[in-house]
Amino acid sequence: MKETFVDFRTVKEQVSMKDVLDHYKIELRQVSNISLRGKCPLPTHSSGNSTQSFNVNTEKNVWACQSSSCVEARDGRKGGNVLDFVSVMENCSVRDAALRLQNWFLVPTPPAGQQEKKKTEIKETPEQRAEKNPDVIEEVNAPLAFVLKGIDSTHPYLKERGIEEETAKHFGVGFFPGRGSMAGRLVIPIANERGELVAYAGRAIDQSEPKYKFPAGFKKSEVLFNLNRVLLFHRRGVISSLLLRDSSIA
Ligand SMILES: [Zn+2]
Repeated sequence: MKETFVDFRTVKEQVSMKDVLDHYKIELRQVSNISLRGKCPLPTHSSGNSTQSFNVNTEKNVWACQSSSCVEARDGRKGGNVLDFVSVMENCSVRDAALRLQNWFLVPTPPAGQQEKKKTEIKETPEQRAEKNPDVIEEVNAPLAFVLKGIDSTHPYLKERGIEEETAKHFGVGFFPGRGSMAGRLVIPIANERGELVAYAGRAIDQSEPKYKFPAGFKKSEVLFNLNRVLLFHRRGVISSLLLRDSSIA
């Protein structure tokens, strides 16, 4: 049987600790704009009197529990990344944890056959590649190998912003009810100049931060470059009405 491919790096990049906490419906207190604190949710936690021992750094995307009995039960490790967290929660290997995260959050994996190719490509920096092949412009944001399903272009928020359902449908803009980092956000497909889907921008429809989410590793400057072009052509279109008014993105 062929072993399922696990891309640890992509899983770590795509899934945030916040996503994982939401998945388990774990609520922590926001103590600063990058840190959360609260009762340790891990099954290795036995101390009843430490209600603030668990903390998460949302910037570094890491967690730790300060309770010595909890640390001891985890072979002396204070904390770790999303994979370590799920592996403790589920009492499974890090590899199984990555597989679960891949399934829960629909982390795209490269299609079979391209996986080996991808590995070797990673070894080269864009500069090295450009040197070898100066005529080829570095593909910054590669086309996506998936599309988000279940985007709702009839969501009331769109109407509130003055966007007709027909326009929203035309641009593929809508509310995303699924899981993952774009959950509960208005998703705006972003295409490159060849019209290929390269990312989704997720706009918060409430006060949640950040107002706009882009996939980890996504070259936003490149997006803005393309968006600027889009804006020229669709000055009165959906993209402009969503993005132009938000100075935070431009
Ligand atoms: Zn603990």
